Amino acid sequence: MTEKFAEVAIALPIDRVFHYAIPEKYSDCIAIGKRVFVPFQNRTIVGYVVGFSDESDVKEVKDIGSVIDEEPILSEEMLKLTNWIKDNYFCTWGEAIEAAIPGGIKKGKVAIGSKLKDSQIRLEDFPPSSPHILTEEQEKALKIIIEAVEKGEYKTFLLHGITASGKTEVYLQAIGEVLKKDRQAIVLVPEISLTPQTIERFISRFGDRVAVLHSKLTPAKRFLEWKKIVDNKAQIAVGARSAIFSPMKKLGLIIVDEEHETTYKQDDVPKYHARDVAEARARLNSCPLILGSATPSLESYYRAKKGEYKLIKLTKRIEERLLPKVKIVDMRMELATRKRVAIFSKVLLDAIDRTLKSGKQAIIFLNRRGFSTFVNCKKCGLVLKCKRCDTVLVYHFDEKKLICHYCNYRTQAPDICPNCKYGYIRYFGLGTERVESEISHNFSHVHIARMDSDTTIKRGSHDRILGEFKAGKVSLLVGTQMIAKGLDFPKVTLVGVVSADVTLNLPDFRASERTFDLLTQVGGRAGRGEDGGEVIVQTYAPGHYAILTAAKHDYEKFYVEEIASRKELLFPPFINLVKVTVRARNEDLTSRTAGELTEAIKAEDKSMKVAGPAPAPISRMRGYFRYNILLKDKDRHAMCELLKKVLGTFRKPHGVLIAVDVDPMSM
Ligand code: ADP
Ligand code: ZN
Repeated sequence: MTEKFAEVAIALPIDRVFHYAIPEKYSDCIAIGKRVFVPFQNRTIVGYVVGFSDESDVKEVKDIGSVIDEEPILSEEMLKLTNWIKDNYFCTWGEAIEAAIPGGIKKGKVAIGSKLKDSQIRLEDFPPSSPHILTEEQEKALKIIIEAVEKGEYKTFLLHGITASGKTEVYLQAIGEVLKKDRQAIVLVPEISLTPQTIERFISRFGDRVAVLHSKLTPAKRFLEWKKIVDNKAQIAVGARSAIFSPMKKLGLIIVDEEHETTYKQDDVPKYHARDVAEARARLNSCPLILGSATPSLESYYRAKKGEYKLIKLTKRIEERLLPKVKIVDMRMELATRKRVAIFSKVLLDAIDRTLKSGKQAIIFLNRRGFSTFVNCKKCGLVLKCKRCDTVLVYHFDEKKLICHYCNYRTQAPDICPNCKYGYIRYFGLGTERVESEISHNFSHVHIARMDSDTTIKRGSHDRILGEFKAGKVSLLVGTQMIAKGLDFPKVTLVGVVSADVTLNLPDFRASERTFDLLTQVGGRAGRGEDGGEVIVQTYAPGHYAILTAAKHDYEKFYVEEIASRKELLFPPFINLVKVTVRARNEDLTSRTAGELTEAIKAEDKSMKVAGPAPAPISRMRGYFRYNILLKDKDRHAMCELLKKVLGTFRKPHGVLIAVDVDPMSM
């Protein structure tokens, strides 16, 4: 080593690499990708060597403290990938690197050479499975994918297959080919706890060649799984979003299952989207990427339509099992005939009764997450929206005003509906607990279980509730989005959606997309056995395209409607969004600073489209007031650069916090 200085990335929000001098004794062992201890502001911290240089413009360069690793823990590829994240997600290189390595390593605690006991998977728990003979559609899909695997070229496939059309089997066999070529594969799943059945299938097929990575593992176990991949003892990594950083050396395929899921977006810095990182990594490795979904994100389907991705369709369910029949119940009519606002329609009550009497099971679903503060007319169903953004106005109790959370449009909340001039405007508020008690009231003899974030706090309660339902001890399961996905219970013949409006009226431009996805997924829980199934959806908006198309299982039609609206209102995929959140304990200070920052952004780039500032939907959180500013542009890197420049000189008052989120998944 002849260079004098090491360039070191540090996981702090300071956007630069730091120079440290290399003492003679370390000149042989220092290398790019290794961790080092460095002095930093009177402390010693861990840094990552990302380069070397002969010169430094820093006046008094300090010495490296020591070199931690014998072998680099970051490959050249991982450095490129984390650098890409830095450029696209408004974070520093060091922050991106920290996201890419397992917890124990970060603090410099675990030495790579250290010996740890064997991993946590007990193979005897997973009966081996062999490949199915593929259907014609599956065969065609697999052939196209294998071609790309053989060629070793970057290509993204969007595998759009209805629920139970055999997507997972296609993944499994594609991976089989990857292994034959002595290469490795990464499979991302949205959330391990919600997809246990998927993981089981990978282990059953590939045994100890699978490493499972997820956030619930202790740092030591996580490190073990990571090490199995480094040593090429495992060739397949299955895991939640951070598994995209698995230390594969010969990556042959990446799969992102349920690619539309918002859990792929990380909430903390670096706020990356694992699907987009997957695409970047596939490009770096010249390997194919499969995005799979029954309800693709608008972004991905749009790219497939444009020809950027190759679209592959699976249109038939395995064994030709029929999709459940969906019935939409117009709750406005219920009010007219029954004179009072009820939670359950007669149709749904009758269906529950019928189902339970015939010894079958039912799932009653209410997505209560987020906001129960949207305003609608119980007579005509009207929901008040912003004329500029077409998103739902949210009622703020303190100010007694309706506010748009995108552009800050404000208006007085009316008492009488401006549409039908008749009905009273009410605030919609309803939770699973209320649903449960209402059902017990109507069906006193039935065994009910409720599953939501309140009933699953205790460890193991999640599994216990599902176990009781599976065993038939419970015949009716009430729950939130926790029960919407992935569950496979053949005796469930009825799924009731208490209010599709909760999701439809989120103050979010993706509200329709979420509704379509949720109805499709939750509906897919019915009729998985031989008895067929029925889905009943209650709503005040029975004519909304997201509900109508979901009821008909018609993704294509939904897409056509939704993409037109995105284009008109200029939302993704036509632009990228960047959200800047200003927080402070004092509301005045928050809104004033947000206003000043907005002006500073506009002054720096007059052509930039800027919306807001507007209060966040949850406008006060943990004692902090929150205001959002939204930037809209095609080039997210350019938006990041603009913000770095503006924030670099912006005089932020004491006590104010500013956060930037590229491609935010919520407001
Ligand atoms: P998806 O991932 O689209 O929901 P799966 O791959 O889980 O679909 O397939 C649904 C069910 O059908 C699974 O139980 C799977 O084992 C089975 N299956 C998949 N492909 C075949 C096939 N070619 N022949 C028979 N059964 C199959
Ligand atoms: Zn608006």
